Amino acid sequence: MTQTRLARSTQKLKTLMKDYYQELDEASRSHSRKVAWCTSAGPVEILTAMGFAVYFPENHGALLGARRLATPLIGKANAQGYSPDICSYLTSDIGAYLGNETALGAAYGVRGIPKPDVLVYNTSQCREVQDWFSFYAREFKVPSLGVFSPWKITELSRANIADVAGQLKDLAVQLSRVSGSPLDPERLKETVRLSSQASNLWKHFLETAKRKPSPITFFDATIHMAPIVVMRGGQRACDYYRDLVKETEDLIVSGAPAVAGERLRFYWEGMPNWGKLRFFSDLFENLKACVVASTYCLSWVFEELDCDNPFESLAQANLRVFINRDERYKEDYLAGITRDYQIDAILFHEAKTCPYNTNTRFGLPQRLQAERSIASAVLYGDLCDLRCFSEEQSRTVVEALAEQIMAGRRV
Ligand code: SF4
Repeated sequence: MTQTRLARSTQKLKTLMKDYYQELDEASRSHSRKVAWCTSAGPVEILTAMGFAVYFPENHGALLGARRLATPLIGKANAQGYSPDICSYLTSDIGAYLGNETALGAAYGVRGIPKPDVLVYNTSQCREVQDWFSFYAREFKVPSLGVFSPWKITELSRANIADVAGQLKDLAVQLSRVSGSPLDPERLKETVRLSSQASNLWKHFLETAKRKPSPITFFDATIHMAPIVVMRGGQRACDYYRDLVKETEDLIVSGAPAVAGERLRFYWEGMPNWGKLRFFSDLFENLKACVVASTYCLSWVFEELDCDNPFESLAQANLRVFINRDERYKEDYLAGITRDYQIDAILFHEAKTCPYNTNTRFGLPQRLQAERSIASAVLYGDLCDLRCFSEEQSRTVVEALAEQIMAGRRV
């Protein structure tokens, strides 16, 4: 792993995340602020503008996966009728709740998850978030409010944008009944402005990987992405990413590549395998291969955000997210990224419990090969459930792909 190369930011990140979770804990225990739970593609800017402390159960799921706590917890949710085939963020998070466990205590020194006053989701990523939050709505007896986005769009129409923007406006009215005061339009503008700024800085950080050799890897990005997920709309995320960009640019100036002797450049498509990041990082480093970009990390680049047009731009940002697009768009997008980042091959992660963010099941890798000469391989696994993963099988796949590319260069 390469965290030590971004040591200043890594240290800041620990403090930032600890402060974030301790503030949530304080809000929950003292009732000084209302707590909203939000999905990763949910309207955090609106919630922040309305003064809610915002918690993201998906971040908890990722933490359970990264700390390899998820697999036994999944069984607890399975025992309550939540299938082993559904999202393992959902089952590990609900399993942790049922077992009165959390990864937040050891990681951030808080006693538990913050109690919600309201739950807010957006279905642009998948429909399972609705069922996930329905569980907690029953447990905590709080409202669960949803934005229902049109799925798998080819071209975004005015009607699509008006539909979601209208839902977001209605949502703000419903939320005002929980918060006790209406949404202040000026505060919303400000949170959208800050969200846009953080997104642009995050994009800048990710795009440093267009350099050859790259100063960063996908694995660095998975570590440093937490603020763009949980702190969008606040000043702290902007300050953090400004410093991260500076530290990354210092690495470029000092000529320190992320992978010594970089000879292969890969793209990671699909969800991370949180419990196996170290395994993959070591595997690629040994092959002098750098995973320079990923759909997952790039999904938090929201170029559409516009503080002068907050609701419509939030709707657009939400609808244009990669996971919500059709196969044709995905082919074009992946072909463009492969060119821009000088990528040798795409690694598709077929995540057993996330069909929504898995793009191997309808012939997309084969079409990229046949129509655009883009090589790829499929890795089988999961985001949290380690029972779906084999190190040996994955090593064989990656080594064979690397050998195939190197052999092609020799002829
Ligand atoms: S998109 Fe996948 S990982 Fe995310 S909540 Fe839905 S099923 Fe889970």
